[in-house]
Amino acid sequence: MVDAERLKKNWSLVAAHGDQVPLYFYSTLFLTHPETRDLFPMNMAAQRDKLVAALGAVVSNVDTIEQVVPVLQDLGRDHRKFGALRGHYPAVGEALVATLEHFSGPHWTPAIASDWAAAYGIVAATMADAADEAAHYAPAWWDAEVVAHERRDLETAVITIAPGRRFDYLPGQSFSLCTELRPRAWRQYTPANAPRADGTVELHVRAVDGGEVSTAMVSLLRPGDPLRLGPAVGRGLVLGGNPPRVALIAGGTGVAPMKALIEQIATAPRPTSLYWGARNPAGLYYLDELRALAAAYEWLEFVPCADEDLFGGGVRIGSPVELAVAHGRCAGAEVFVCGPPGMVESSRKHLLDAGVRAEAIHFEPSAE
Ligand SMILES: Cc1cc2nc3c(=O)[nH]c(=O)nc-3n(C[C@H](O)[C@H](O)[C@H](O)COP(=O)(O)OP(=O)(O)OC[C@H]3O[C@@H](n4cnc5c(N)ncnc54)[C@H](O)[C@@H]3O)c2cc1C
Repeated sequence: MVDAERLKKNWSLVAAHGDQVPLYFYSTLFLTHPETRDLFPMNMAAQRDKLVAALGAVVSNVDTIEQVVPVLQDLGRDHRKFGALRGHYPAVGEALVATLEHFSGPHWTPAIASDWAAAYGIVAATMADAADEAAHYAPAWWDAEVVAHERRDLETAVITIAPGRRFDYLPGQSFSLCTELRPRAWRQYTPANAPRADGTVELHVRAVDGGEVSTAMVSLLRPGDPLRLGPAVGRGLVLGGNPPRVALIAGGTGVAPMKALIEQIATAPRPTSLYWGARNPAGLYYLDELRALAAAYEWLEFVPCADEDLFGGGVRIGSPVELAVAHGRCAGAEVFVCGPPGMVESSRKHLLDAGVRAEAIHFEPSAE
């Protein structure tokens, strides 16, 4: 039996060592099991962040592990693209325990060691079982080709890709992709369309400062370039049930899943409001398409917003969440939020403060 409190306490002790923790973990893993090095990208900086984030998420949910089971199953299926086989899990477990022991110093006890072994055992088995099951019906990855690449502004590109074989996903889900321009560096992106008959997928990519993959995707990627895709993951932004009304709140490229959801809603229309914001109107790179959608669908309201509108771009001044709440669009609605991590968090708080039920607020927990 895992002692959740003891585990959480030990994790906060270890995590206080910051970047040293993933550094030690990967050094140990690659030294003791050199064959695992090829599973990871050349540049390990982003990967290091991910490990600490993933461990923190598992530990903070260890007493309600059933809630993270779907996430772990997604992770296990997704890891097939690395060639991560059941045989690698013990190597990772050993390096993890060695790392935790190292940073726990005198606080490391046999009881803590056995808590960690048990927690990791559950995680590894859940991931490996889901991967084995997926092997019966899905490939480990999908090859795809870029069919269109349209630069909308300095930072943003709208990219259309064609998977070489059937690629299933639900509106609101994301998938990881890898380009030969940045070998073995996988990042998540979110389709901006519901599945189409021709199988093509539209992506909106914003280059982040110093970003390894996003800058290459925006500046260097060209039609004809190959990509590799992992399976669709995430349930946070999936629209289920039959809600009477829907409010969509987006910042930047967070509008991509909202457009996919609007295409889904078009098959069973209901009153829907999309509030989409950027710092200034120039950042609203998809304005014409969304205005055209709102003109075509009488059940869809579209409110572009910005912090400032110096040149009269016809947008509302304010943040998407503040305006949507002030206009009464979130009361009694299922509310979907997507955008930069800080924006999602502050929007969530604003909605809760405005009295929106936590269960009615939908978002994808960020990997940041
Ligand atoms: C579920 C999910 C869906 C996503 N969908 C999209 C999408 O549709 N379009 C899209 O453009 N991006 C999307 N992202 C973000 C994307 O996965 C990458 O994180 C982003 O493109 C940066 O990758 P990079 O390799 O360029 O940056 P990295 O080299 O990984 O990081 C470089 C620096 O940028 C910072 N950084 C990383 N991501 C962001 C960010 N989003 N905002 C601000 N700073 C950041 C890092 O902390 C680091 O300091 C999504 C992320 C998640 C978790």
